Amino acid sequence: MRLSNSYFFTLREDVKNEESKSGNLLVKAGYISKIGSGIYTFLPMGYKVLRNIENVIREEMNKSGAEELLMPSLIPIEYYEKSGRADKFGGTMFKLQDRYDRPYALGPTHEELFTTVAKKCIKSYKDMPFNLYQIANKYRDELRPRFGLIRVREFIMKDAYSFDKDEEGLAKSYQIMKDTYHNIMKRLGLEYRVVEADCGTMGGTLSEEFQAICNIGEDILFYCPFCSYSTNLEVGTSYPHDYAFEEPKSPELIATPTIDDLSKFLKLPLEKIAKTLVYNIDDVLYAVVIPSSYEINETKLQKLLKATNISLATKEEVESISSTVGFVGPKDLSIPIIIDEDILKMSNFVIGANQKDYHIININALDFNYDYVADIKLIKEGDLCPKCGKKLIFTKGIEVGNIFKLGTKYSEAIGLNYMDEQNQLKPVVMGCYGIGLARIMASLAEQRATLNNLNWPLVVAPFKVAIIVVNTKDEECLHIAEDLYNDLKEFDPLLDDRNERVGIKFNDMELIGIPIKIVIGKNILSNKVEIKYQDETAIIPLNAVKEYLEKIVNNQLL
Ligand SMILES: [Zn+2]
Repeated sequence: MRLSNSYFFTLREDVKNEESKSGNLLVKAGYISKIGSGIYTFLPMGYKVLRNIENVIREEMNKSGAEELLMPSLIPIEYYEKSGRADKFGGTMFKLQDRYDRPYALGPTHEELFTTVAKKCIKSYKDMPFNLYQIANKYRDELRPRFGLIRVREFIMKDAYSFDKDEEGLAKSYQIMKDTYHNIMKRLGLEYRVVEADCGTMGGTLSEEFQAICNIGEDILFYCPFCSYSTNLEVGTSYPHDYAFEEPKSPELIATPTIDDLSKFLKLPLEKIAKTLVYNIDDVLYAVVIPSSYEINETKLQKLLKATNISLATKEEVESISSTVGFVGPKDLSIPIIIDEDILKMSNFVIGANQKDYHIININALDFNYDYVADIKLIKEGDLCPKCGKKLIFTKGIEVGNIFKLGTKYSEAIGLNYMDEQNQLKPVVMGCYGIGLARIMASLAEQRATLNNLNWPLVVAPFKVAIIVVNTKDEECLHIAEDLYNDLKEFDPLLDDRNERVGIKFNDMELIGIPIKIVIGKNILSNKVEIKYQDETAIIPLNAVKEYLEKIVNNQLL
């Protein structure tokens, strides 16, 4: 592309209202343009990056044997009603009516439609396995769109669905997709981790996330630098903590007048205090007891009770079973009690006395009744790896992909069945696999850019090579640039032949992050050009430029 006659602009100033580095740089460099809250246009260079990402994904998906199709975005609402998700999505789903007042949704996700399409083909066990995918737009009415392309309301996603006759088949399909995702992320040059995740509203039995490591990430993850353990906050567990054992003493009621910091007041560490919180879980009140050094993991709690709704009890609800908030304890409570497994290891600890301004000290688990023992802690910084006991490393991540074993949840809801070898009707076993394309673009920008300049890997860069002519008034230089431009067509070069000051040209090429820059400047007198790639600058004879670029692109240079 010749810059002198193309759609190209960059902004000099940082962009207001873009709180992330990637959002700011992508707008500033003319890759994307904001249309509304969480809605962006991909301008020509931005769209090239997106398509380069898409190409890698498509190639790897096709290599895995999956078949591409295209679903509509405008979907009659009845499909989501059948699966019960019209309500579950709530305000997140964009809903609209046609001229006859028939209700539709802009598809937030496509499990229902893929299941319906699969139904057309599957009659018997012989019709499986297969895997279908599409690369298409999704719509979600996010409460708080932010971070440029990371949390948006319209986004492009690759979603795939596998159809198998049994769990064994699903395990195979799932592994193929997991391997495919590793290939995709590696080829795109993304720094990422795979973490175990909660199945959430998708249902199903196993879910893993591909998280791009990024300090603006919305997810907290941790991984062990010594073994393969990595997880997100929702499902993470840690190595059993050591609590010093003491011979049980006699419980004692003590006055703890309204104080901010019980641990300071009693001169005891947090792990000598157990806090009790009251939860309303599917309309039943539960007392939940954990060491005060931890917070409660509501996802684990929800799983333990197979609950749908979970919330902290109101002040009135607490007062209906104990004295008041802040003094609840498990002793002599009339509601079911869940204790964290660590409570059993603590000795002579402190609990609320169910009396305003009082706690009981020297309590042991033997001194009160409980109904459930489980790990319900939210893991925290400083915790150790549950597999090998080494210190876990905490980081933030952007979820760029996820893979789910859905099982039979959607096939049962939609009636996707097949006839097995014994002529028995059975539900199809499904898996689902998503990748957010623009999130990958934003994550690559976040991971690789400096504060001021983008820096694309070769595989996704809008142009691999920029040819910069220092003096466009010099006809001879322009002529050489033109020849080079034609000669290097296979590298999709960008020719900066604008009649601009050279400083502006260099700044623009740095800002937009073209990986290889060829400078036609003073060395041209000896028939040489300067080639910049990463931190290296080389002076190369004109007739060796192509060979040099081939080495870079084939990764043979360094
Ligand atoms: Zn480990």
